[in-house]
This record gives sequence, structure tokens and C-alpha cells, in this order.
Amino acid sequence: MASVSARVLPAPAPYVLPEVKPFWDATAEGRLVLPRCVECDTVVWYPRPFCPACGSLKVSWVSASGRGTVYTFTINRRGQADLPAYRDAGVYVLAYVELDEGPRVMTNIVDCDPDVVKIGLKVEVVFHDTGQGNALPRFRPVTS
Ligand SMILES: [Zn+2]
Repeated sequence: MASVSARVLPAPAPYVLPEVKPFWDATAEGRLVLPRCVECDTVVWYPRPFCPACGSLKVSWVSASGRGTVYTFTINRRGQADLPAYRDAGVYVLAYVELDEGPRVMTNIVDCDPDVVKIGLKVEVVFHDTGQGNALPRFRPVTS
């Protein structure tokens, strides 16, 4: 097996708008919830208090499976010079994951050798604690 980066990506705390607090509160409990339109059933990403498909202001929060598929990705091998925390994180994967519920989420693929990531890889959510009462959803390969 190839080496896995032992360094950890930073998990900066998000600015939490009141209308998406349920999303961030759920991350603190290790749960992924998504807004779903009450009028047309569109699952909304990114979290917001209205439906981008039909304009309805009626959305409810539903539990997501936490599973998805890598839609596309890139491997960052050089970090970013002006953001030391990312520069020092080592090699990391930036990806779009298509959730089983439909939305495509920009995220990181973690807990694996970056070179095993491929389009179509099945992944599941993990949460990285920000230390500020919530966590960032990221994804790792499904192992079972
Ligand atoms: Zn709608």
C-alpha cells in the first residue's frame, strides 16, 4: 500500500447564518441533513432557506444517507503558499461528490491515499470538528 499523508487538513469554522443553523448543528452530532423543497421535492445544495428550482420558501430538513460517489476531483500536491495551514497539510484531494440524494458537494476526500481516488469511487461522510461547535463534512472511501 502506498503511503497515506499523516498530516491533517485544517477545519476552519464556517460563518453560520441563522437560516442554515440546523445544517451546522447536525454536523456537531455527526449527522448530514439537507434542505428539501416541500413543494417540488428538490434536494437543495448548498443549504439555504428556499428552493432554487421553484422559488418556494418552504423547505424542510431531511436526513441524508451520508453516501455518495466521486463525480470529479483534483489532487493538490503543492498546497497554497499564502495559506500556511493548507500548504502544510500535504497532498490532499479536492472533489465534487454526488450525494445519493442528488446534489453535488464540493469537499475533500480523506482517510485514504490520494492516488486511490477515481471518478465513480463510492464514498461516505466523515466530520472534522472545527472546535467551534460544528464540523466540516468530508468524505472517505466506503470500506464495507
Ligand atoms: Zn421547489
